[in-house]
Amino acid sequence: MKAKSTLIALILSLFYFSCNQEKEPEVKNYWPNAGITYEIFVQSFYDSDGDGIGDFNGVTEKLDYVQELGANAIWFMPIMPSPTYHKYDVTDYKAVHPDYGTMEDFKRLLEEAHQRDIKIVIDMIINHTSTEHPWFQESKKGRDNAYRDYYVWAQKDTIADFLDKKVITLDSDNIRQWHDPGSGEDYYYGFFWGGMPDLNFDNPKVREEIYEIGRFWLEEVGVDGFRLDAAKHIFPDDRPLDNHEFWKEFRAKMEAIKPDVYLVGEVYDKKEIVAPYLPGLPALFNFDFHYTLLEAFNSADGMLLPKKQKEILDFYQNITPEFIDATISSNHDQPRLLNELGEDVDKYKQAIAVMLTMPGAPYLYYGEEIGMKGLKPDEHIREPFLWDVKAKDEGRATWIEPKFSIDSEVTPLALQRNDPNSIFNHYKSLINLRNTYPALALGKLSLPSSEYPKPIMAYSRVHEGQAIFAVHNLGDEEISIELPAGFDKVIFGMGDGVNLNGTLTLQKNASRVYVK
Ligand code: CA
Repeated sequence: MKAKSTLIALILSLFYFSCNQEKEPEVKNYWPNAGITYEIFVQSFYDSDGDGIGDFNGVTEKLDYVQELGANAIWFMPIMPSPTYHKYDVTDYKAVHPDYGTMEDFKRLLEEAHQRDIKIVIDMIINHTSTEHPWFQESKKGRDNAYRDYYVWAQKDTIADFLDKKVITLDSDNIRQWHDPGSGEDYYYGFFWGGMPDLNFDNPKVREEIYEIGRFWLEEVGVDGFRLDAAKHIFPDDRPLDNHEFWKEFRAKMEAIKPDVYLVGEVYDKKEIVAPYLPGLPALFNFDFHYTLLEAFNSADGMLLPKKQKEILDFYQNITPEFIDATISSNHDQPRLLNELGEDVDKYKQAIAVMLTMPGAPYLYYGEEIGMKGLKPDEHIREPFLWDVKAKDEGRATWIEPKFSIDSEVTPLALQRNDPNSIFNHYKSLINLRNTYPALALGKLSLPSSEYPKPIMAYSRVHEGQAIFAVHNLGDEEISIELPAGFDKVIFGMGDGVNLNGTLTLQKNASRVYVK
């Protein structure tokens, strides 16, 4: 007996020794600079009370899942009262939509999230309100109303040109839309549509109202930050400097309340237009990343994305070294990524491998991690999450009849968990990898010194003593390349490939990531 236990102890100590030799790198939380944020549409996520609509308690039940996936933060699409299903037109800025639960439910969600080291960022829609907001209901009563100047009004005769054409192009690409509230006298400005009148940020009272709303959510409720919707439209396109200045003021006001507040802005444009917002909005969505990722895959032109990304990062760097590059592969306004890639699962997995090994702070749209599908109109890119096969799926929302994300098209999470080759496990292991190797999270991007065949995408990431080399074959044919010196340890691979003395041969949609 004794000999046997001594032998076991010896084996255990040898095992321990070998584990220590090959020291397992630690999984870290790189949020906000390089961590993962998971975008949730509460309506479609998890329905805890069976009324067909996802809710806060449902999200709370699924926080362990968000943690398991490896996300460090959640961005909630709008949660405030609103007459529309998407809730991008608010009627009360200091409440939550009753369909989603109570403020107590939301606060409990916050507390549970924070216990798991998950930050909470909420959508803040301040460019416009709903026409049903009490401010607008007052404002439209007449020119003498105390709330008149909360919105942008014009007398009919001063905008005759606009009304004739409805949509007019000024010296910039600005589109101004004026709407008749029914009086036929004065028209109000609503950039997106008549149901969303734009607030008047030339009015200091409006700014004070907005700052007070920010204070309420940060101080009284306790969220960690805001995703600022339509940040480019606070003032019309011909007043970009006023937009930049406004966001600097907003940031200063919010930081006075909560010094580490997180602000991420939606400025839907190219880098030259986006970058000047950085001093006010330290994190900005990188829409160019999304479009270039698609272009690279759909034209099998590998270096398009690393070159574009380097250009963007260098450009931002010149504006301010302090910025967060919020990369996206899709969101609630874009068709689902799998559809954009012709429903080719291998391409899809490879695109995710690219995104999660490139620089930035990636945003993942709920459902992408199980390969949900969806095309416009918008409600069909926001369909219910598939937790389990339909007959057993207690939490599946039913507020909409899904067209794309149905059981015959998308494998529910419960079935993907047990399949090592599932999209879910692919996401999970890549996120884990990213949070394990500092160079993958924080490393500076550099382009390869060698020229590779067109379908090859390759780039390096270097952070302190660690270097990563990632290579992906986006084409249909086998390609061989010479690996740069010193990269022989593979930390991620997909698809078939062989490395023979530094010559790497990759088959169609194969990728390798090396570390040294
Ligand atoms: Ca519900």
